[in-house]
Amino acid sequence: MNTQRICILGSTGSIGVNTLDVIARHPDTLSVYALSAHSRIERLAEQARASGAQVVIVPDDAARRRFEQAWPAGRPLPEIRLGAQSLADTAADPQVTTVMAAIVGAAGLPAALAAARAGKRLLLANKEALVAAGGLFMAAVREHGAELLPIDSEHNAIFQCMPAGYRSSVSQQPAAGVRRLLLTASGGPFRTTDLALLDSVTPDQACAHPNWSMGRKISVDSATMLNKGLEVIEAHWLFAMPVDRIQVVIHPQSMVHSMVEYDDGSILAQLGQPDMRTPIAYGLGFPQRIDSGVGLLSLAALGRLDFEEPDFLRFPCLRLAYEAMRAGQGACVALNAANEVAVARFLSGALGYTRIPRIIEGCLERMAGRGGAALDSLEAVLALDGEARRAAADLCM
Ligand code: NAD
Ligand code: MG
Repeated sequence: MNTQRICILGSTGSIGVNTLDVIARHPDTLSVYALSAHSRIERLAEQARASGAQVVIVPDDAARRRFEQAWPAGRPLPEIRLGAQSLADTAADPQVTTVMAAIVGAAGLPAALAAARAGKRLLLANKEALVAAGGLFMAAVREHGAELLPIDSEHNAIFQCMPAGYRSSVSQQPAAGVRRLLLTASGGPFRTTDLALLDSVTPDQACAHPNWSMGRKISVDSATMLNKGLEVIEAHWLFAMPVDRIQVVIHPQSMVHSMVEYDDGSILAQLGQPDMRTPIAYGLGFPQRIDSGVGLLSLAALGRLDFEEPDFLRFPCLRLAYEAMRAGQGACVALNAANEVAVARFLSGALGYTRIPRIIEGCLERMAGRGGAALDSLEAVLALDGEARRAAADLCM
Protein backbone atom coordinates (compact mmCIF):
# COMPACT_ATOMS: atom_id res chain seq x y z
CA MET A 1 0.00 0.00 0.00
CA ASN A 2 1.18 3.56 -0.68
CA THR A 3 1.89 5.73 2.32
CA GLN A 4 -1.31 6.78 4.09
CA ARG A 5 -1.64 10.45 5.02
CA ILE A 6 -3.64 10.46 8.19
CA CYS A 7 -5.84 13.04 9.87
CA ILE A 8 -6.48 12.32 13.57
CA LEU A 9 -9.57 14.10 14.85
CA GLY A 10 -9.07 14.32 18.62
CA SER A 11 -5.35 13.47 18.70
CA THR A 12 -4.80 14.50 22.33
CA GLY A 13 -7.31 11.99 23.70
CA SER A 14 -6.76 8.40 24.71
CA ILE A 15 -7.49 6.99 21.23
CA GLY A 16 -5.51 9.79 19.57
CA VAL A 17 -2.40 9.12 21.65
CA ASN A 18 -2.60 5.37 20.96
CA THR A 19 -3.04 6.06 17.25
CA LEU A 20 0.12 8.20 17.18
CA ASP A 21 1.97 5.43 19.01
CA VAL A 22 1.06 2.88 16.30
CA ILE A 23 1.78 5.30 13.43
CA ALA A 24 5.28 6.01 14.80
CA ARG A 25 6.09 2.28 14.47
CA HIS A 26 5.51 2.40 10.69
CA PRO A 27 7.32 5.42 9.26
CA ASP A 28 7.49 3.87 5.76
CA THR A 29 3.74 3.40 5.30
CA LEU A 30 1.96 5.71 7.76
CA SER A 31 2.34 9.48 8.02
CA VAL A 32 0.51 12.21 9.92
CA TYR A 33 -1.04 14.99 7.85
CA ALA A 34 -3.33 16.70 10.40
CA LEU A 35 -4.03 16.65 14.14
CA SER A 36 -6.80 18.30 16.16
CA ALA A 37 -7.47 19.12 19.80
CA HIS A 38 -10.12 20.99 21.73
CA SER A 39 -8.04 21.52 24.87
CA ARG A 40 -4.53 20.60 26.06
CA ILE A 41 -3.04 22.68 23.24
CA GLU A 42 0.53 22.32 24.54
CA ARG A 43 0.19 18.58 24.16
CA LEU A 44 -1.03 19.10 20.60
CA ALA A 45 2.06 21.21 19.84
CA GLU A 46 4.28 18.45 21.17
CA GLN A 47 2.44 15.84 19.06
CA ALA A 48 2.66 17.99 15.93
CA ARG A 49 6.39 18.49 16.45
CA ALA A 50 7.07 14.79 17.02
CA SER A 51 4.90 13.55 14.13
CA GLY A 52 5.71 16.24 11.56
CA ALA A 53 2.01 17.14 11.09
CA GLN A 54 1.47 19.72 8.35
CA VAL A 55 -1.87 20.96 9.67
CA VAL A 56 -3.36 21.40 13.14
CA ILE A 57 -6.94 22.32 13.99
CA VAL A 58 -7.75 24.17 17.23
CA PRO A 59 -11.05 25.70 18.37
CA ASP A 60 -10.34 29.44 18.32
CA ASP A 61 -7.86 32.33 18.27
CA ALA A 62 -6.92 31.94 21.93
CA ALA A 63 -5.96 28.32 21.26
CA ARG A 64 -4.00 29.42 18.18
CA ARG A 65 -1.95 31.80 20.33
CA ARG A 66 -1.31 29.07 22.89
CA PHE A 67 -0.18 26.75 20.11
CA GLU A 68 2.22 29.37 18.74
CA GLN A 69 3.65 30.04 22.21
CA ALA A 70 4.23 26.34 22.80
CA TRP A 71 5.92 25.86 19.42
CA PRO A 72 9.74 25.64 19.46
CA ALA A 73 11.41 28.83 18.15
CA GLY A 74 13.09 28.53 14.77
CA ARG A 75 10.98 25.64 13.47
CA PRO A 76 8.45 26.32 10.72
CA LEU A 77 4.92 26.32 12.17
CA PRO A 78 2.35 23.91 10.76
CA GLU A 79 -0.70 25.47 9.15
CA ILE A 80 -3.17 26.30 11.94
CA ARG A 81 -6.87 25.98 11.09
CA LEU A 82 -9.66 27.13 13.39
CA GLY A 83 -13.08 25.87 14.44
CA ALA A 84 -15.54 23.07 13.81
CA GLN A 85 -15.92 23.77 10.08
CA SER A 86 -12.15 23.29 9.68
CA LEU A 87 -12.46 19.86 11.31
CA ALA A 88 -14.96 18.80 8.64
CA ASP A 89 -13.00 20.48 5.82
CA THR A 90 -9.75 18.80 6.85
CA ALA A 91 -11.42 15.40 7.18
CA ALA A 92 -12.45 15.83 3.53
CA ASP A 93 -9.12 17.42 2.42
CA PRO A 94 -7.80 15.81 -0.80
CA GLN A 95 -4.37 15.54 0.90
CA VAL A 96 -5.85 13.11 3.45
CA THR A 97 -6.22 9.39 2.65
CA THR A 98 -7.25 8.19 6.12
CA VAL A 99 -9.25 9.73 8.95
CA MET A 100 -9.21 8.55 12.55
CA ALA A 101 -12.46 9.83 14.08
CA ALA A 102 -11.54 10.03 17.79
CA ILE A 103 -13.40 13.08 19.05
CA VAL A 104 -15.63 12.23 22.01
CA GLY A 105 -19.39 12.73 21.76
CA ALA A 106 -21.81 13.91 19.11
CA ALA A 107 -19.44 16.89 18.62
CA GLY A 108 -17.45 14.51 16.41
CA LEU A 109 -20.35 13.73 14.08
CA PRO A 110 -20.03 16.52 11.45
CA ALA A 111 -16.35 15.82 10.76
CA ALA A 112 -16.79 12.02 10.73
CA LEU A 113 -19.68 12.42 8.30
CA ALA A 114 -17.58 14.74 6.14
CA ALA A 115 -14.89 12.03 5.94
CA ALA A 116 -17.53 9.48 4.88
CA ARG A 117 -18.91 11.85 2.24
CA ALA A 118 -15.39 12.41 0.91
CA GLY A 119 -14.97 8.63 0.48
CA LYS A 120 -12.03 8.35 2.88
CA ARG A 121 -10.65 5.32 4.61
CA LEU A 122 -12.42 6.00 7.90
CA LEU A 123 -11.33 4.52 11.22
CA LEU A 124 -14.30 5.11 13.52
CA ALA A 125 -13.79 5.28 17.28
CA ASN A 126 -16.42 8.00 17.80
CA LYS A 127 -19.39 5.71 18.46
CA GLU A 128 -21.70 8.62 19.36
CA ALA A 129 -21.64 9.61 15.66
CA LEU A 130 -23.30 6.30 14.72
CA VAL A 131 -25.70 6.39 17.66
CA ALA A 132 -26.95 9.85 16.70
CA ALA A 133 -26.97 9.43 12.94
CA GLY A 134 -26.48 5.76 12.01
CA GLY A 135 -28.80 5.68 8.99
CA LEU A 136 -27.47 8.90 7.51
CA PHE A 137 -23.89 7.91 8.23
CA MET A 138 -24.05 4.42 6.70
CA ALA A 139 -25.83 5.78 3.62
CA ALA A 140 -23.00 8.32 3.16
CA VAL A 141 -20.38 5.58 3.54
CA ARG A 142 -22.04 3.44 0.86
CA GLU A 143 -22.87 6.27 -1.51
CA HIS A 144 -19.37 7.76 -1.50
CA GLY A 145 -17.37 4.53 -1.33
CA ALA A 146 -15.72 5.21 2.03
CA GLU A 147 -13.88 2.28 3.64
CA LEU A 148 -15.33 2.10 7.15
CA LEU A 149 -13.20 0.27 9.73
CA PRO A 150 -14.58 -0.07 13.28
CA ILE A 151 -12.10 0.79 16.03
CA ASP A 152 -14.28 0.27 19.12
CA SER A 153 -12.71 -2.95 20.42
CA GLU A 154 -15.96 -4.98 20.38
CA HIS A 155 -16.84 -3.97 16.83
CA ASN A 156 -13.31 -4.46 15.67
CA ALA A 157 -13.42 -7.97 17.18
CA ILE A 158 -16.72 -8.71 15.43
CA PHE A 159 -15.34 -7.37 12.17
CA GLN A 160 -12.38 -9.73 12.52
CA CYS A 161 -14.73 -12.69 13.18
CA MET A 162 -17.05 -11.98 10.24
CA PRO A 163 -17.06 -14.21 7.15
CA ALA A 164 -14.07 -13.60 4.84
CA GLY A 165 -14.48 -10.53 2.67
CA TYR A 166 -17.24 -8.98 4.80
CA ARG A 167 -17.29 -5.18 4.55
CA SER A 168 -19.38 -2.88 6.79
CA SER A 169 -19.10 -0.30 4.04
CA VAL A 170 -21.13 -2.37 1.60
CA SER A 171 -23.51 -4.74 3.39
CA GLN A 172 -27.09 -3.71 3.99
CA GLN A 173 -28.18 -7.00 5.56
CA PRO A 174 -26.73 -9.39 8.14
CA ALA A 175 -23.85 -11.48 6.80
CA ALA A 176 -24.99 -14.90 5.53
CA GLY A 177 -24.69 -17.65 8.14
CA VAL A 178 -24.39 -15.26 11.09
CA ARG A 179 -27.03 -15.84 13.76
CA ARG A 180 -26.08 -13.38 16.48
CA LEU A 181 -23.43 -10.92 17.62
CA LEU A 182 -22.23 -11.39 21.21
CA LEU A 183 -20.90 -8.14 22.67
CA THR A 184 -18.73 -8.56 25.75
CA ALA A 185 -18.75 -6.02 28.58
CA SER A 186 -16.45 -5.87 31.59
CA GLY A 187 -19.19 -4.68 33.95
CA GLY A 188 -16.97 -1.74 34.94
CA PRO A 189 -15.78 -0.73 38.39
CA PHE A 190 -19.19 -1.21 40.10
CA ARG A 191 -20.05 -4.72 38.87
CA THR A 192 -20.12 -6.07 42.42
CA THR A 193 -20.48 -2.85 44.46
CA ASP A 194 -23.34 -2.83 47.00
CA LEU A 195 -26.20 -1.02 45.19
CA ALA A 196 -26.84 1.15 48.27
CA LEU A 197 -23.34 2.64 47.93
CA LEU A 198 -23.74 3.80 44.32
CA ASP A 199 -25.40 7.06 45.40
CA SER A 200 -22.15 8.36 46.79
CA VAL A 201 -19.52 7.17 44.28
CA THR A 202 -17.10 9.85 43.05
CA PRO A 203 -15.98 10.67 39.49
CA ASP A 204 -12.53 9.23 40.21
CA GLN A 205 -14.05 5.95 41.40
CA ALA A 206 -16.26 5.78 38.30
CA CYS A 207 -13.27 6.44 36.04
CA ALA A 208 -11.11 3.75 37.66
CA HIS A 209 -11.91 1.09 35.07
CA PRO A 210 -10.63 -2.35 36.08
CA ASN A 211 -9.13 -3.25 32.67
CA TRP A 212 -9.05 -0.33 30.21
CA SER A 213 -7.44 3.11 30.39
CA MET A 214 -9.73 5.55 28.51
CA GLY A 215 -11.04 9.12 28.42
CA ARG A 216 -13.23 10.16 31.36
CA LYS A 217 -16.57 10.29 29.53
CA ILE A 218 -16.35 6.75 28.13
CA SER A 219 -15.03 5.53 31.50
CA VAL A 220 -18.21 6.76 33.22
CA ASP A 221 -20.27 5.23 30.40
CA SER A 222 -18.53 1.91 31.07
CA ALA A 223 -19.41 2.16 34.77
CA THR A 224 -23.12 2.77 34.01
CA MET A 225 -22.99 0.37 31.03
CA LEU A 226 -24.62 3.05 28.89
CA ASN A 227 -21.47 2.47 26.86
CA LYS A 228 -22.64 -1.06 26.07
CA GLY A 229 -26.04 0.31 25.07
CA LEU A 230 -24.34 2.75 22.67
CA GLU A 231 -22.32 -0.20 21.36
CA VAL A 232 -25.43 -2.29 20.67
CA ILE A 233 -26.76 0.60 18.56
CA GLU A 234 -23.33 0.95 16.92
CA ALA A 235 -23.27 -2.78 16.09
CA HIS A 236 -26.79 -2.57 14.67
CA TRP A 237 -25.64 0.03 12.13
CA LEU A 238 -22.17 -1.34 11.38
CA PHE A 239 -23.31 -4.91 10.77
CA ALA A 240 -26.89 -4.29 9.56
CA MET A 241 -28.02 -6.52 12.43
CA PRO A 242 -31.47 -6.39 14.10
CA VAL A 243 -31.13 -5.40 17.75
CA ASP A 244 -32.76 -8.62 18.99
CA ARG A 245 -29.84 -10.53 17.43
CA ILE A 246 -27.23 -8.60 19.45
CA GLN A 247 -26.61 -9.98 22.92
CA VAL A 248 -24.60 -8.42 25.74
CA VAL A 249 -22.51 -10.78 27.90
CA ILE A 250 -20.55 -9.67 30.95
CA HIS A 251 -16.97 -10.90 30.82
CA PRO A 252 -14.98 -9.34 33.68
CA GLN A 253 -11.48 -10.15 32.35
CA SER A 254 -11.92 -8.13 29.10
CA MET A 255 -9.77 -10.54 27.09
CA VAL A 256 -12.51 -11.81 24.74
CA HIS A 257 -13.35 -8.60 22.91
CA SER A 258 -16.58 -9.93 21.33
CA MET A 259 -17.91 -12.88 19.33
CA VAL A 260 -19.92 -13.89 16.28
CA GLU A 261 -22.33 -16.82 16.51
CA TYR A 262 -22.98 -18.79 13.31
CA ASP A 263 -25.96 -20.90 12.17
CA ASP A 264 -23.91 -24.11 12.40
CA GLY A 265 -23.32 -23.61 16.16
CA SER A 266 -19.82 -22.14 15.84
CA ILE A 267 -18.88 -19.12 17.90
CA LEU A 268 -15.81 -17.19 16.72
CA ALA A 269 -14.12 -14.89 19.23
CA GLN A 270 -11.25 -12.41 19.07
CA LEU A 271 -8.99 -12.33 22.13
CA GLY A 272 -6.11 -10.11 23.14
CA GLN A 273 -4.81 -7.75 25.80
CA PRO A 274 -7.20 -4.89 26.58
CA ASP A 275 -5.07 -2.36 24.68
CA MET A 276 -6.64 -0.15 22.00
CA ARG A 277 -3.47 -0.26 19.90
CA THR A 278 -4.57 -3.71 18.64
CA PRO A 279 -7.83 -2.53 16.98
CA ILE A 280 -6.13 0.71 15.90
CA ALA A 281 -3.29 -1.21 14.21
CA TYR A 282 -5.87 -3.51 12.60
CA GLY A 283 -7.64 -0.47 11.13
CA LEU A 284 -4.44 1.22 10.00
CA GLY A 285 -2.96 -1.91 8.45
CA PHE A 286 -6.13 -3.47 7.00
CA PRO A 287 -6.14 -5.84 5.19
CA GLN A 288 -2.61 -6.57 6.43
CA ARG A 289 -1.64 -7.23 10.07
CA ILE A 290 0.97 -4.82 11.39
CA ASP A 291 2.91 -4.43 14.64
CA SER A 292 0.88 -2.63 17.32
CA GLY A 293 3.34 -2.71 20.19
CA VAL A 294 0.89 -4.82 22.23
CA GLY A 295 2.29 -7.81 24.12
CA LEU A 296 0.86 -11.27 23.60
CA LEU A 297 -1.83 -12.68 25.84
CA SER A 298 -0.83 -15.66 27.96
CA LEU A 299 -3.91 -17.84 28.39
CA ALA A 300 -2.19 -20.08 30.93
CA ALA A 301 -1.25 -17.05 33.07
CA LEU A 302 -4.83 -15.80 32.80
CA GLY A 303 -6.16 -19.21 33.86
CA ARG A 304 -9.88 -18.63 33.36
CA LEU A 305 -12.48 -16.65 31.43
CA ASP A 306 -15.83 -15.86 33.12
CA PHE A 307 -19.17 -14.90 31.56
CA GLU A 308 -22.44 -13.76 33.14
CA GLU A 309 -25.77 -12.09 32.26
CA PRO A 310 -26.04 -8.31 32.72
CA ASP A 311 -28.39 -7.15 35.50
CA PHE A 312 -30.79 -4.38 34.39
CA LEU A 313 -31.42 -3.34 38.02
CA ARG A 314 -27.77 -2.61 38.55
CA PHE A 315 -27.39 -1.13 35.07
CA PRO A 316 -30.60 0.79 34.27
CA CYS A 317 -28.76 2.69 31.50
CA LEU A 318 -28.51 -0.53 29.49
CA ARG A 319 -32.27 -1.02 29.74
CA LEU A 320 -32.81 2.61 28.66
CA ALA A 321 -30.60 2.09 25.61
CA TYR A 322 -32.68 -0.92 24.51
CA GLU A 323 -35.85 1.13 25.02
CA ALA A 324 -34.45 3.97 22.92
CA MET A 325 -33.53 1.56 20.13
CA ARG A 326 -37.06 0.22 20.06
CA ALA A 327 -38.50 3.76 20.02
CA GLY A 328 -36.44 4.85 17.01
CA GLN A 329 -33.62 7.08 15.81
CA GLY A 330 -34.90 10.24 17.51
CA ALA A 331 -34.87 8.46 20.86
CA CYS A 332 -31.28 7.33 20.25
CA VAL A 333 -30.29 10.97 19.67
CA ALA A 334 -32.02 11.93 22.94
CA LEU A 335 -30.42 9.02 24.84
CA ASN A 336 -26.96 10.07 23.75
CA ALA A 337 -27.47 13.80 24.26
CA ALA A 338 -29.00 13.39 27.74
CA ASN A 339 -26.16 11.08 28.72
CA GLU A 340 -23.51 13.55 27.54
CA VAL A 341 -25.13 16.31 29.60
CA ALA A 342 -25.57 14.14 32.71
CA VAL A 343 -22.06 12.65 32.57
CA ALA A 344 -20.43 16.08 32.13
CA ARG A 345 -22.30 17.28 35.25
CA PHE A 346 -21.37 14.15 37.19
CA LEU A 347 -17.70 14.61 36.24
CA SER A 348 -17.78 18.24 37.41
CA GLY A 349 -19.22 17.20 40.77
CA ALA A 350 -22.63 18.81 40.15
CA LEU A 351 -24.70 15.61 39.83
CA GLY A 352 -24.85 12.34 41.78
CA TYR A 353 -23.96 9.13 39.97
CA THR A 354 -27.40 7.52 40.31
CA ARG A 355 -29.07 10.58 38.80
CA ILE A 356 -27.45 9.83 35.42
CA PRO A 357 -30.06 7.17 34.44
CA ARG A 358 -32.85 9.34 35.87
CA ILE A 359 -31.86 12.32 33.69
CA ILE A 360 -31.71 10.05 30.63
CA GLU A 361 -35.09 8.48 31.40
CA GLY A 362 -36.67 11.89 32.03
CA CYS A 363 -35.28 13.23 28.77
CA LEU A 364 -36.54 10.19 26.82
CA GLU A 365 -40.00 10.81 28.32
CA ARG A 366 -39.98 14.50 27.42
CA MET A 367 -38.84 13.76 23.89
CA ALA A 368 -41.17 10.76 23.51
CA GLY A 369 -43.18 12.30 20.68
CA ARG A 370 -39.97 12.68 18.67
CA GLY A 371 -38.67 9.12 19.11
CA GLY A 372 -39.42 8.02 15.58
CA ALA A 373 -38.54 11.39 13.97
CA ALA A 374 -37.20 11.12 10.42
CA LEU A 375 -33.59 12.25 10.67
CA ASP A 376 -32.48 12.43 7.08
CA SER A 377 -30.05 15.33 7.32
CA LEU A 378 -27.20 16.38 9.59
CA GLU A 379 -29.13 19.57 10.39
CA ALA A 380 -32.16 17.57 11.59
CA VAL A 381 -29.95 15.40 13.82
CA LEU A 382 -28.14 18.40 15.31
CA ALA A 383 -31.41 20.27 15.93
CA LEU A 384 -32.89 17.31 17.82
CA ASP A 385 -29.60 16.83 19.68
CA GLY A 386 -29.73 20.47 20.81
CA GLU A 387 -33.34 20.14 21.92
CA ALA A 388 -32.56 17.02 23.95
CA ARG A 389 -29.54 18.72 25.57
CA ARG A 390 -31.74 21.62 26.69
CA ALA A 391 -34.33 19.20 28.09
CA ALA A 392 -31.62 17.26 29.94
CA ALA A 393 -30.00 20.43 31.34
CA ASP A 394 -33.42 21.48 32.60
CA LEU A 395 -33.87 18.10 34.31
CA CYS A 396 -30.49 18.47 36.03
CA MET A 397 -31.70 21.58 37.91
P1 NAD B 1 -10.78 11.59 25.26
O1 NAD B 1 -11.66 12.42 26.12
O2 NAD B 1 -9.56 11.00 25.85
O3 NAD B 1 -10.33 12.47 23.98
C1 NAD B 1 -11.25 13.18 23.22
C2 NAD B 1 -10.56 14.00 22.13
O4 NAD B 1 -11.59 14.78 21.47
C3 NAD B 1 -9.53 15.01 22.64
O5 NAD B 1 -8.50 15.14 21.69
C4 NAD B 1 -10.33 16.31 22.75
O6 NAD B 1 -9.50 17.49 22.64
C5 NAD B 1 -11.27 16.19 21.58
N1 NAD B 1 -12.55 16.90 21.78
C6 NAD B 1 -13.32 16.86 22.90
N2 NAD B 1 -14.42 17.63 22.73
C7 NAD B 1 -14.33 18.16 21.49
C8 NAD B 1 -15.16 19.05 20.74
N3 NAD B 1 -16.30 19.54 21.24
N4 NAD B 1 -14.77 19.39 19.49
C9 NAD B 1 -13.62 18.92 18.98
N5 NAD B 1 -12.79 18.06 19.64
C10 NAD B 1 -13.14 17.69 20.88
O7 NAD B 1 -11.72 10.45 24.62
P2 NAD B 1 -11.29 8.97 24.15
O8 NAD B 1 -11.35 8.06 25.30
O9 NAD B 1 -10.05 9.02 23.32
O10 NAD B 1 -12.54 8.59 23.22
C11 NAD B 1 -12.70 9.14 21.93
C12 NAD B 1 -13.84 8.42 21.23
O11 NAD B 1 -13.47 7.05 21.03
C13 NAD B 1 -15.14 8.38 22.04
O12 NAD B 1 -16.22 8.47 21.16
C14 NAD B 1 -15.10 7.03 22.71
O13 NAD B 1 -16.40 6.52 22.96
C15 NAD B 1 -14.42 6.19 21.64
N6 NAD B 1 -13.71 5.02 22.18
C16 NAD B 1 -12.68 5.19 23.05
C17 NAD B 1 -12.03 4.09 23.57
C18 NAD B 1 -10.85 4.24 24.50
O14 NAD B 1 -10.21 3.26 24.83
N7 NAD B 1 -10.51 5.43 24.95
C19 NAD B 1 -12.45 2.79 23.21
C20 NAD B 1 -13.50 2.66 22.32
C21 NAD B 1 -14.14 3.78 21.81
MG1 MG C 1 -15.94 -0.63 23.34
